[in-house]
Amino acid sequence: MSDPTLLVVDGLKATYVHAITALHDVGFTLAEGEIVALLGANGAGKTTVLKALSNLLSAARGQIRAGSIRFAGRDVTATRPADLVRAGLVPVLEGRHCFPSLTVEENLISGGLGRGSTRREIAADLDKVYAHFPQLAEKRRTASGLTSGGEQQMTAIGRALMSRPRLLVLDEPSMGLAPLVVQDIFATLQRLNREEGLSLLVAEQNAAVALRVAHRAIVLENGVTVLSGTAAELTARDDIKAFYLGHK
Ligand code: ATP
Repeated sequence: MSDPTLLVVDGLKATYVHAITALHDVGFTLAEGEIVALLGANGAGKTTVLKALSNLLSAARGQIRAGSIRFAGRDVTATRPADLVRAGLVPVLEGRHCFPSLTVEENLISGGLGRGSTRREIAADLDKVYAHFPQLAEKRRTASGLTSGGEQQMTAIGRALMSRPRLLVLDEPSMGLAPLVVQDIFATLQRLNREEGLSLLVAEQNAAVALRVAHRAIVLENGVTVLSGTAAELTARDDIKAFYLGHK
């Protein structure tokens, strides 16, 4: 039987330039088909974890100092970002990073080209993305820079889907978006998980929205994993309610 554990992060320590230690000791696992929420206050280290997983820390002048990352049974701690994407570990990082002057469709296609998809695969994958995000089909010929924040987030997720991920790693997908748009995006992520078995790691400051769709959650504090449990367990905890869910 194959190992159902898709991602294993163990003893991760990471620093930025001037020796700022952002992660002291981060460890967690994610099973194939799971949605895991990565929670924590501003500055707790969520973005740093996701950048470490995608091997994008060096662009922010950071580096992994200790620990390891295993994905699909293989040590990927030093694997190049493009190879990680080809292996199925695909990031959707904060800021969305759509090419503003390219159309929505061109942005989506860039995700397929990055993976080396054929024209036929790209056409099939575009249909799938438009089925999940019908709003994008309507805007396919519009420059991404002229679309709404929600549509740019959908485009960023759609572009990641074009590279046929096994694990999608999302940084604050709710950031700056209206509640209805956030609901819509999380409903689509949940459907991708249920219908296609896509695994998801979602870093969120908006714990309420993340815990509604996650199976499990991990809480980071000052670069250390301090808590983990099922979404139901964490939702029931008074300290989590008070701190992350904004009520007692
Ligand atoms: P946020 O929700 O604000 O993005 P976060 O939980 O994602 O917070 P990180 O962005 O990972 O937290 O930041 C963790 C720590 O690392 C913080 O103390 C932050 O100031 C520091 N940090 C982040 N990026 C850099 C950088 N490029 N150079 C130096 N320090 C950084």
